[in-house]
Amino acid sequence: MGKYIVLLGPPGAGKGTQAEVLSEKTGLAHISSGDIFRENLKAQTELGKLAQGFMNRGELVPDDVTIAMIRERLSRPDCKAGAILDGFPRTPAQAQALSEMLAQLDGKVVSVPYISVPPAVLIERLSGRWTCRAQGHIYHSQFHPPVKAGVCDEDGSELYQREDDQPATVERRIRVYLDQTTPLIDHYRQAGLLVEIDGTQSIEQVTSALLTAVE
Ligand code: ADP
Ligand code: ADP
Repeated sequence: MGKYIVLLGPPGAGKGTQAEVLSEKTGLAHISSGDIFRENLKAQTELGKLAQGFMNRGELVPDDVTIAMIRERLSRPDCKAGAILDGFPRTPAQAQALSEMLAQLDGKVVSVPYISVPPAVLIERLSGRWTCRAQGHIYHSQFHPPVKAGVCDEDGSELYQREDDQPATVERRIRVYLDQTTPLIDHYRQAGLLVEIDGTQSIEQVTSALLTAVE
């Protein structure tokens, strides 16, 4: 049976950073809904063009579009053993759709680490976030700087600051998260799957707490 881990937490909590490491350590695929949207945007596909306005405004892309995209991604062979879900689900309807998809794929959600970080810290993290153009590797100008400024350590590609990481859009995204995603915390707590992690610790400390949680 496939093992699926859902990472919950506000924008800037460290989901992408930790999903990268967890994927290496567990061998499970890393599925980032935001990365898939950004790849589609770069390639100017129909999906990318549709998502663009919502992303730039800091709003969620509609559920039907997002669910169809993740359904297709999870049906690929590299997800058969399971996956680390980073950024999906983000609404109750997406959580419901995920449980239906996994039932069909003979998989289940085995753990839901919730990385909690207060809003003031999130703003500091997102305003210093640098993202790799080629594969979405994540850096921070202060907390996790690349060896050479502006260049990805992993693949040598250019680092850029995301359009939606500017302060006004970040505030909007945090509000959207509080409004639409926080109900999932209770949902997974009631299902006995939630593990709360203090996301204000160092990147390494959060990784070790996560590894304990998902073992
Ligand atoms: P999310 O995917 O939840 O939005 P990211 O993984 O992209 O979060 O992290 C947001 C920013 O904070 C990045 O610049 C990242 O380097 C930095 N970061 C991640 N985890 C930590 C941490 N534990 N301490 C300090 N900075 C962190
Ligand atoms: P962060 O890492 O800062 O939490 P993401 O990269 O996950 O941000 O998401 C960036 C944007 O992509 C979101 O603001 C939203 O517009 C869109 N998006 C990503 N995941 C979802 C989702 N599950 N449902 C709807 N929209 C999403």
